[in-house]
Amino acid sequence: MLFKDFLWWLLKENRLVNFLYRECFVYLFPVNKQPVSADAGIIDKSSLLSSAGGGKSTRLPAIKGYSSGTTNQPLTVYRSIKSVLLEEYIIKSFYKSIAVPLRPRIAVLRGEQIKVNTDGDGIYWRQQFFSKRLLMSSYHISQSSFRAYLAALETYKPDVIMAYPSAITLLAKFAKGISWQARWKLSAVFTSSESFSKENQQLVREVFGNVFDHYGQAERVAALQQCRQQHYHVREDYSQVEFIEDEHGIRIVGSNLHNKAMVLTRYDTKDYIKGLSLDIACSCGNPAPYVEQILGRDDDYIILPDGSHIGRLDVAFKGITGLVECQLEQRALDSIIVRMVPEKAQDIHVLKAGIADNLRAYLGENVTLVFQVSDEIPRTAAGKFQSVIRSKDIDSA
Ligand SMILES: [Zn+2]
Repeated sequence: MLFKDFLWWLLKENRLVNFLYRECFVYLFPVNKQPVSADAGIIDKSSLLSSAGGGKSTRLPAIKGYSSGTTNQPLTVYRSIKSVLLEEYIIKSFYKSIAVPLRPRIAVLRGEQIKVNTDGDGIYWRQQFFSKRLLMSSYHISQSSFRAYLAALETYKPDVIMAYPSAITLLAKFAKGISWQARWKLSAVFTSSESFSKENQQLVREVFGNVFDHYGQAERVAALQQCRQQHYHVREDYSQVEFIEDEHGIRIVGSNLHNKAMVLTRYDTKDYIKGLSLDIACSCGNPAPYVEQILGRDDDYIILPDGSHIGRLDVAFKGITGLVECQLEQRALDSIIVRMVPEKAQDIHVLKAGIADNLRAYLGENVTLVFQVSDEIPRTAAGKFQSVIRSKDIDSA
């Protein structure tokens, strides 16, 4: 563990490395505006899974990774050394654009497995010796522990908090309840890896000041990053991005430019966006195209008995007070488990009635709602929050 931390510090997190990434690597990754040939057909994960070699292109040294997928089969992805450098550059230059110090103190709330002493003093974090990162467990944030998390952050005073949206939203929700705000010089909270609603972003902003979201995917064909106007700008030095419209909306299709180990041309991310601006300038000064919102995968939906798909159900929880988190799980066509974590001292009957009313407006009367009250919502193996879980039997029905 100590050796890994040392390597991390040596290769990724010292002043010299950060300087090189920020000031010199821009020449390694010039913007290529040559349009991708429209003759190339659009490919996606299933076409790669069924192709020989799974899309691996060369015999060059490559680092293996996996695309995550909760309901789908994971895809093995291959990254060249240049692609690995690019990924780091894209984050470090993002930090530079927000004026994060050259050697930031970083607190991490991103699915880290921390050994917790549950019967002792409740330590849910660990500080790395070389990199100085404060790794905090994103699995233990609760009504009884959140004050300890906030106190630890106040003591550590990070320049940056790297977080999953669900983890920082949960912490912000509890913090707001006691009117707590980050009062040290925190450059920003940086989030990625989960969809992040505008409402939750606003909540995190109220508590922690700044929050900037990064959108990417394991296939590394598109990166979009938020500016101070909260627009998601395309990183044109990362890849070439197209926005393709279909009957469900506008989705992101990307072609990587710097990964010879797995060349992906016109790869469909299946992620949808909202509010595309191709030629309206953003007041932040970044001329790259931007979108208002990343909606994410369209697979977080419930299937009704009549076959219709109801997605984006987070709107059903708008205006509901007294609710910490909520998750829907569909195991049968005609019944849905509503798993909820209420706030302390919340009248459960009132809460259930409010949620049931809202859900009925979207799901109709032919679905039974089975409420389960719990202290926490379990995360995936990677520590991510899922707002909707649909069992495989429903998909194949
Ligand atoms: Zn902007």
